[in-house]
Amino acid sequence: MSEAAAPIESVVIVGGGTAGWMAAAAASRYLNDGRRSITLVESDAIGTVGVGEATIPPILQFNGLLGIDEKEFVAKTGATFKLGIEFVNWGGVGERYLHPFGTIGRDFEGVAFHQHWLKHRRAGGMADFERFSMSAQAAAAHRFAAPVSDPRSPASQLAYAYHFDAGLYAKFLRERAEGQGVRRVEGRIASVERDGESGHVTALVLDDGRRVAGQFFIDCSGFRSLLLGETLGVGYRDWSHWLPCDRAIAVPSQRTDPLLPYTRATAREAGWQWRIPLQHRTGNGHVYSSGFTTDDRAQEILLANLDGAPTADPRRLSFKAGVREKLWEKNVVALGLSGGFLEPLESTSIHLIQTGISKLFWLFPDTAHAEVERREYNRLMSEQFDYIRDFIILHYKATTRADTPFWQYVRDMPIPDTLAHKIELFREKGRILRYDHDLFEVPSWVSVMFGQGIWPTGHDAVADSLDEALVAGTMERMVAAYADLAQRMPPHADHVARTAPMRG
Ligand code: FAD
Repeated sequence: MSEAAAPIESVVIVGGGTAGWMAAAAASRYLNDGRRSITLVESDAIGTVGVGEATIPPILQFNGLLGIDEKEFVAKTGATFKLGIEFVNWGGVGERYLHPFGTIGRDFEGVAFHQHWLKHRRAGGMADFERFSMSAQAAAAHRFAAPVSDPRSPASQLAYAYHFDAGLYAKFLRERAEGQGVRRVEGRIASVERDGESGHVTALVLDDGRRVAGQFFIDCSGFRSLLLGETLGVGYRDWSHWLPCDRAIAVPSQRTDPLLPYTRATAREAGWQWRIPLQHRTGNGHVYSSGFTTDDRAQEILLANLDGAPTADPRRLSFKAGVREKLWEKNVVALGLSGGFLEPLESTSIHLIQTGISKLFWLFPDTAHAEVERREYNRLMSEQFDYIRDFIILHYKATTRADTPFWQYVRDMPIPDTLAHKIELFREKGRILRYDHDLFEVPSWVSVMFGQGIWPTGHDAVADSLDEALVAGTMERMVAAYADLAQRMPPHADHVARTAPMRG
C-alpha cells in the first residue's frame, strides 16, 4: 500500500504558537480515537509572534467545543470581555463609531431594523444608530454582564468575545492538549523529507538529527510557512495593493482605568494603532505601511499615544497581506500565519484558525489521498479569506480623509469587484448583500458602512408600509430599554474582578 493510501494514524503539527496549540487542543479532543498519535513540534529558540490578543464572538463556540470553563480561561489568560471595536478617526478626523457585537435593534414586521432607522432618520430626531445596540450601550458605560437566553430581554441581544494574553493562551491550550495525550517535541526543524513518488511530506528532521515522521501534517509554523510555502512551494496571493499596511510595532503598557470592554483602533497618518485592555496590562501596537512612513516615525507615534507607561521594549514585525493559493496541498494543511494574513483590524486571524480547524475536522480524511476533501477545504477557506478581506478594505476605502498620502491612496484605490458591488447596493437603499458563509452579519456591515460615512440615498420601500407612529414608539422604547439595562450592569472591571480575577 502506498503512503498516501494508508489510514492516517499519525498527525504532526508544526509550530506551538496560537495556531499550533489551538489545533493540538482540538485534535486531542476530536481526532484522538486511541489509534492516532498527535505530535507537536516547536522551537523555543524561534519563539512565537505572540501578538494576537483580540477576538470575536465565535471564539466562545471554540472554547465550548473544547469543554473550556470560562472562568478558568479568563483567570488563566488575564482576559477581559470585549463588546466590539471602537474606530477613531477612520471615516474622517475627529469622528468615531463602534462596531458592536450582537444584534442592533430588532427587525419587525419582516423589515430589517436598519431600514426602519433609515426611514426615521430622514424624518429627523432619531437616536444614533449605535444606541440601538445593547453591546454598544454597555460599552459606552464601561459596563459588562453576560447575555441571557430569554429573547424578550434586551440582554439577549448582547454578544461578546475576549481580549487575552497571547502567551498565556498558548500555555493554557498546551496544558489541555498535553493532558489529553498530545506529545510535544522541542527542537528546530532543519529539513523536511518527502515521498519521492507522491511528493507528500513524510518526516521532519530536527537540527540534532532526531526525525519526526507522520502521515498528515498541520503547518502552524508562522509567517515562514515551512511546509506549505517553503517545502511544497504553494504560492501567495498578494493583496498588498488593497491592504498596504505591511509592518507593525507592538508594545505593552501599564493597565489604566477604566477597564474598557472593547478594543480601540485609532487611525494614524499611515496606518492605525490598536489598544487592547487586559487584566494585567494593555496591549498596544501600530500597524502601518512602509510605503508611506518610516519605522522610526511609526514607533514615535505609537509611544507618544500610549495611555500608560510602556512595560517592555517595542517589537517590530513585517508581513504582507494575502493568502496562500491553496491552504491544503498534498498531506499538509496550513493554519494561522503560515496560510495567510489579514491585518488585525477586525480581530479575524484567530477566528480564521478556528474556522480552519473546524472545516478540517469536518473534512478529515481516512487516508492522506483526499482529493475531494482537499478541494472543498480550499474552496471554503478561500471564500472566508475573500469575505474578510473585503470587510477590512471597506474601512480604508470608505473614508473622507485625504490629509496624508496614505489616506489619499486608500480612498482612491481600486477595490475588489465584490466589495464595489456591495457598497453600490448599500448606497442605493441600504441593502446588504451577504454571501453564504460570510462571517460578518448584517449588523456588522451596516455599522461599518454608517460608521465610515456611507449613507444610502433611500430606504427599502417595504419600510413605508408600516404605521409610522407605531414604529417610532417601538424604537424609542428599544433605546430606553438598552440604556436602562446598561446602567444596571456592573462596571466591567468589577465584573472581571468578581468572576475571574487573574491567577497563574
Ligand atoms: P507563530 O506564533 O509565529 O508560531 C509559529 C510557531 O512555529 C512557533 O512555535 C515557532 O517556534 C514554530 N516554528 C517556526 N519555524 C520552526 C522550525 N524551523 N522548527 C521548529 N519550530 C518552528 N489575531 C487576532 O485574532 N487578533 C489580534 O488582535 C491579532 N493581532 C495581531 C497583530 C499583529 C501585528 C500580527 C502580526 C498578528 C496579529 N494577529 C491577531 C494574528 C495572530 O497573532 C496569529 O494569527 C496567531 O498568533 C497565530 O500565529 P501562528 O501560531 O500562526 O504563528
